[in-house]
Amino acid sequence: MSIDWPAVHSEALDVLRQYLKIDTSNPPGNEAAAARYLGGLLAVEGIECEFIQTAPGREAIVGRLRGDGSRGGALMLANHLDTVPADPTGWTSPPFEAEVRAGRVYGRGAVDMKGTGVMHLFAVLLAKRHGLRLARDLIFLAAPDEELGSGWGIEWLIRERPDLFDGVAFTLNEGASGVPEFAGRSAHLFEVAISEKELAPLRIVATGVAGHGSKPARDSATVRLLDALNRLRRWQRGITYTPETRAYLDRLQAAGLLDDLSDRAGVEAAISASPDTVAAFTNTLNVTVLRAGSQSNVIPGRAEALVDCRLLPGQSRDAWVAEVAAVIGDPLVQVSLEYPSSAPVVVSPWDTEVSRVITQVLTETFEDAVVLPSSSIVGTDNRFIRPLGIPAYGFIPCLLSQEERDGFHAHDEFLTVENLNLGVEVMYEVVRRLCEVQSSVAR
Ligand SMILES: [Zn+2]
Repeated sequence: MSIDWPAVHSEALDVLRQYLKIDTSNPPGNEAAAARYLGGLLAVEGIECEFIQTAPGREAIVGRLRGDGSRGGALMLANHLDTVPADPTGWTSPPFEAEVRAGRVYGRGAVDMKGTGVMHLFAVLLAKRHGLRLARDLIFLAAPDEELGSGWGIEWLIRERPDLFDGVAFTLNEGASGVPEFAGRSAHLFEVAISEKELAPLRIVATGVAGHGSKPARDSATVRLLDALNRLRRWQRGITYTPETRAYLDRLQAAGLLDDLSDRAGVEAAISASPDTVAAFTNTLNVTVLRAGSQSNVIPGRAEALVDCRLLPGQSRDAWVAEVAAVIGDPLVQVSLEYPSSAPVVVSPWDTEVSRVITQVLTETFEDAVVLPSSSIVGTDNRFIRPLGIPAYGFIPCLLSQEERDGFHAHDEFLTVENLNLGVEVMYEVVRRLCEVQSSVAR
């Protein structure tokens, strides 16, 4: 039975708008209302559903379609219900009204990640409506608390409800998307994240002589800290060449998106065209918190900065601390990790039926599609799934423009209706080929 896509598109837009109107800003999250909304849409079509409370007002929704198991373990479509908060004063239209303007749906969560959640939801709904004979279980999981570390979300679920992950062969979540251009060349370049950058936030503390604000300070902690941060600001780092970034450059060249790789300046210029691409090729550093002093007439003896740093796979956190300290080069400025250890970054295998099916579907959709493995530049819930031994992929099946990608955690976040439609179609087709009982599908 063929699918009436125009009808599905308008239904999906409707569902996304209702979903965006449910404020799940985290903190506090209050994701139960969103879980009940999505779960209601599954339950009404006879799909098995479970609501799991992780904390008061906070719930996950798990929906499941059963397969005969002939193609192995389950496919889990995992997404998060919460969003970061939105300051309405910075928005053109209120962030929880889901206004549609000029082919775009505006709202907090449109790209991060309620839009993808709706693509997951429709893949399950369509599989049910069209009576797909499933060769493996298909699981929909929407979890709370991703934006504040997942302690009441996926981490809680893995600890308290490990049964949910038993028999799961693969998961899809956020972490990478397609883009419609690369360094000014039009393209259909899709990244699928198989790992992610490692968080290495730094605490930088300057010490000086405390004193009276009336006299010129001889040795001020605040000035010392500002000098240190200015050295970091002027630090030219360029591309970090690692086995992964070299392989990535080779793939971009093979796809015709980069020319001569020996022309390092040319490569740097191409990479610099997008902050997302820069982040994919460098260890990043952003000063996010500054703390010093308590009142204007007292020179503080201590000043501190917190710096968001994210390292490429395979980079050492300790070596990074030493490198930053060397750039600052001031014995009265101490550099340390904000928190000492984090779980090791696990890389999922690329050569699996998931990447083969995704590549096949995308190259049938766009004849010049390029599909590449990547490391997500942000942290996602996949970092909790991969250590379970479950290959977990970051895959938003949309061609997100730079403007759309800049909407993550920012004002005027939006997803185009065109991307929503593309995502709903591609996600369903990927799910169908991964789950359907059929001998002719690609393995
Ligand atoms: Zn997200």
